[in-house]
Amino acid sequence: MKLPKETKRFCPYCKKRTDQKIDLVSTGFKRGTLTKGSISRTKIRGAASGKGNKGKYSRKAIKSWKRKTKTTTRKVLIYQCQECKKSKQSKNSRRVSKILIGEK
Ligand SMILES: [Zn+2]
Repeated sequence: MKLPKETKRFCPYCKKRTDQKIDLVSTGFKRGTLTKGSISRTKIRGAASGKGNKGKYSRKAIKSWKRKTKTTTRKVLIYQCQECKKSKQSKNSRRVSKILIGEK
């Protein structure tokens, strides 16, 4: 799906139609390997060492899903007003594989 870089949209803060920049809402940060409660951290601490069954520390961590069913993800657009620099997310997300912003 292709979208322009800027559109005219109603800004609820300026209470009029203004030029607004389109951007995607980021998916957030991923947890590091040495976070609290992670298996690699407990192994460094020496909790899961030696012989025998160590329960959840005996198993290998599941890296990814075995079968990926969905090929598309839900993307939320964010609109930033160029006059007051305030931004607003779109009410409903779109299920698309890819969003190209400002490409022709
Ligand atoms: Zn505004």
